[in-house]
Amino acid sequence: MSTQSFAELGLDASVLEAISAIGYETPSPIQAQAIPILLKGDNLLGIAQTGTGKTAAFALPLLSRIDATSNAPQILVLTPTRELAIQVAEAFNSYASHFRNFHVLPIYGGQDFYPQLKALKRGAQVIVGTPGRTLDHLRRGTLKLDALSALVLDEADEMLRMGFIDDVEAILAATPDDCQRALFSATMPGQIRKVAQTYLSNAQEVKIESQTRTVDRISQFMLPVYAERKLDALTRILEVEPFDASIIFVRTKAETTLLADKLSARGHAVAPLNGDLNQRQREQTVEDLKSGKKDIVIATDVAARGLDVPRITHVINYDVPYDSEAYIHRVGRTGRAGRTGKAILLVTPRERSWLRTLERATNSPMEAYELPSPADLQKLREQQFESQLLAFVDDPKLAKAMALLDDIAERNDMDIAMIAGALACGMEAAQPGALPLEQPSALPTPSASPKQRDPRRSGGGRPGEKRRGHKPGFKGKSGYRKEGGSRPPRTGGGGGKGKPTARQTDRRR
Ligand code: ADP
Ligand code: MG
Repeated sequence: MSTQSFAELGLDASVLEAISAIGYETPSPIQAQAIPILLKGDNLLGIAQTGTGKTAAFALPLLSRIDATSNAPQILVLTPTRELAIQVAEAFNSYASHFRNFHVLPIYGGQDFYPQLKALKRGAQVIVGTPGRTLDHLRRGTLKLDALSALVLDEADEMLRMGFIDDVEAILAATPDDCQRALFSATMPGQIRKVAQTYLSNAQEVKIESQTRTVDRISQFMLPVYAERKLDALTRILEVEPFDASIIFVRTKAETTLLADKLSARGHAVAPLNGDLNQRQREQTVEDLKSGKKDIVIATDVAARGLDVPRITHVINYDVPYDSEAYIHRVGRTGRAGRTGKAILLVTPRERSWLRTLERATNSPMEAYELPSPADLQKLREQQFESQLLAFVDDPKLAKAMALLDDIAERNDMDIAMIAGALACGMEAAQPGALPLEQPSALPTPSASPKQRDPRRSGGGRPGEKRRGHKPGFKGKSGYRKEGGSRPPRTGGGGGKGKPTARQTDRRR
């Protein structure tokens, strides 16, 4: 972060009030560099990775320059996906919260035309759209750009990758000649460079070398695992990792729902996020993840593009990404806004070559992730069961229950341990797995390509050291008992509902 303050950058007073209300303290590097350029009215070419704060970098200065007395579109932002359009629109809304008359409108495909038409008619100073739908409106004459003073291409490389480049150029060509233009991109492939040369005359270039900065705050792990053991490995990871919210990446839409169903059956608050869901469902899912109603989202790359949910502490790459750039975007879903995050990659023996590719791309090492041993896992489960029980010691019904059970014990000549055991078996019957009776088995895992990795990690990662490496789930678990106390599991007949996992409890801090 720069030492400069937002106020020094020359932003409009009401914009400054809004960002101080949001709690931003200092501008991020891209903001410190881009804001003065955009405030001056110059064109800008911004090259920066995910999570560097690009939205505010263009939204704050452009908002400072709009004419709030007119409802005509003055700023148009193009984004590759609907999610991103909504997110950027929300950001504009928050940055303009101190404006008297302000309207921002996201427009994207998959949503009915009619409400968009109505909203466009009502007027909005800022339009945030996906290229296809924006072009549709332009061609129908329902979106007019005569008064447009600024155009922003956000995530230009992604728009190129998604095949939007022709649409983007058509829109660029339809904007007034004197319109200010800014292009943001994580990478600068030739085609983007060409667009910039054609449409962004005299653009000032701002480059934030944050390929490694982005993953700096994210610790990266990889777990070699046989393909048929991935689900087992994942459920163990989720059992021991103290995550707040987690995003799990898979390759296909079908896999998002399959895996969501499986994790849901294991008691997780989980939802799929893919392009097959309708817009409303997708928005709801992101909202649920933000609010804590859901803790896990299973997503494809496209559906999760640009997703900005600060409570995501863990990114799990259940399937390897298609390329290292996709990987960087994926792990950029955590470590947002200066927080730390953790990324775990499952690799099957066939996919080992990914490790070095990704280490090179992120310029940082991948540590071997150590699954907890069966004994550790068993201990954790027992501790959780115990804290579940202890949570009921203060229950107002306890005295009555004790009297009842005392009576039963006496009449049947049973001791109280036997009574308790019978109750516990009842719990298990109602909710299999509620009682940690079965010792978990060891998960066979392939080694991480010994030929390639061991020499580089001299002294590290020896089998004997395995256990020490990674048991974050066990740390701080001592606090579990009390935390659990605030939330006794709802009991139906005789069983705790689900197995509250460590993190369900953690969330309640
Ligand atoms: P990018 O578009 O570069 O991926 P975003 O604009 O989505 O990044 O910003 C990432 C996160 O950082 C958001 O949660 C945003 O609210 C936060 N953020 C942006 N600028 C600042 C700042 N100056 N101080 C603190 N947080 C910020
Ligand atoms: Mg962005």
